[in-house]
Amino acid sequence: MSELSFAELGLDPAVLEAVTAVGYETPTPIQAQAIPALLSGRHLLGVAQTGTGKTAAFALPLLSRVDPSVNAPQILVLAPTRELAIQVAEAFSTYASKLPNFHVLPIYGGQDFFPQIKGLRRGAHVIVGTPGRMLDHLRKGTLKLDNLKALVLDEADEMLRMGFIDDVEAILSKTPDNCQRALFSATMPPQIKKVAQTYLKDAVEVRIESASRTVDAISQYVLPVYAERKLDALTRILEVEPFDASIIFVRTKAETIVLAEKLAARGHAAAPLNGDLNQRQREQTVEDLKRGKKDIVVATDVAARGLDVPRITHVINYDVPYDTEAYIHRIGRTGRAGRDGKAILLVTPRERSWLRTLERATNATMEAYELPSPAALQKMRVDQFESQLIGFAEDRKLSKAMAMLDDIAERNEMDITMVAGALACMLEATQPGSLPLEQPEALPAVSTTQPNRDRKAGRPGEFRKGPKPGSYNKRPSGGAPGGKGKFAGKPAGKRPPRQSDAMR
Ligand code: AMP
Repeated sequence: MSELSFAELGLDPAVLEAVTAVGYETPTPIQAQAIPALLSGRHLLGVAQTGTGKTAAFALPLLSRVDPSVNAPQILVLAPTRELAIQVAEAFSTYASKLPNFHVLPIYGGQDFFPQIKGLRRGAHVIVGTPGRMLDHLRKGTLKLDNLKALVLDEADEMLRMGFIDDVEAILSKTPDNCQRALFSATMPPQIKKVAQTYLKDAVEVRIESASRTVDAISQYVLPVYAERKLDALTRILEVEPFDASIIFVRTKAETIVLAEKLAARGHAAAPLNGDLNQRQREQTVEDLKRGKKDIVVATDVAARGLDVPRITHVINYDVPYDTEAYIHRIGRTGRAGRDGKAILLVTPRERSWLRTLERATNATMEAYELPSPAALQKMRVDQFESQLIGFAEDRKLSKAMAMLDDIAERNEMDITMVAGALACMLEATQPGSLPLEQPEALPAVSTTQPNRDRKAGRPGEFRKGPKPGSYNKRPSGGAPGGKGKFAGKPAGKRPPRQSDAMR
């Protein structure tokens, strides 16, 4: 992570205020490099993939250069899919939330022209869309670029792969000569290099390099999961993994608090660790973890830097890291002092390209993490309850308790099994979920998939079968039987484009 703060980057105060409100702690490496370059008006070539924070890396500086009083397209972003277009438009709306009367408009194929034309007529400062539809509007004259200040090509290699490169070049040729340009791509195939050489002369180049290190003592696992099922997946991991102490990495300070609270509500001794806590509070949390007063710390990268607690057996990457360096730091919190450690990474379909990158960076293969099936989970819960129960059969108060319950059973004409059953229900009511009385919900395993890239027929949030993510192998982890490296949880289904105020 960078040592710079957002306040030092020279962003517009209203944009900075929005970033603070979102709760980002520090700029990610790509943000630290790209923001000053884009603020100075230079073209930018960014070699980086999803998850590095690249959206904010271009959105924040470009928004800082927009004139909100001019109600015409000033920033145009081209994205390969409508799913990504909606996501980027939402990010822009968030970062522009403190700019007065600001409008962001997503435009993509498969949607009626009419509402898009209406939106364009009303005026929008930022347009985010897929190349085909954008070109249609340019040709119809419904989209005009006279006031355009910046054009961004997001996931350029994906646009190439999907056959959009001609559309992209046609749009590029229609942008004003003095327009600032930024191109982001995970890879640099020759055609993309050519586009960069033609349209991004003297661009500042930013590469999020892959750090490489061997991490022998740490076994690495990956669990593909849809974003909305991450919490269920995490809860289950914590239930089946025999961990001593665990550190869970998330992206924002706010998320450390929210997640730690959710875990505490589920009976875990969990605490947040973030940069908002003062030195004394942080030290206290680390001390609690060392002494076993807490078993789980939910942390941001910054807060966990240098954390050395030998009893950490598990590192769970709830959110993917920003770069390989951060990943290596994170998993290095376990496997300390010659012990073995286990690292589990949750990836959403969009983030699956991280697998190969991280495998390369660590010279190791990630195994598919397999969640237990509901039946296996139920059996485990029963076994646990049984061994606890047997433990109490030697309690010194047992004979008094037996006499009391015999008496109750006799007076109420109850069978002693019924008394025991009622007691178990009573116990469960005081700590819901603590006894195996409910069949656990199956976390639906969906095929390993990739987002629908069909610009005409595709629906946002819909996933179809695709290649296996990364090169991970199938091998049961920690003896937990179940799914086979598929995305756990269900897809978002047909998600209507959420249009916040700023997106109208
Ligand atoms: P992207 O690489 O643009 O897809 O961003 C991935 C995720 O990182 C998004 O959920 C962002 O909200 C989040 N993010 C971006 N920048 C930061 C930051 N500086 N601190 C924390 N989270 C961030």
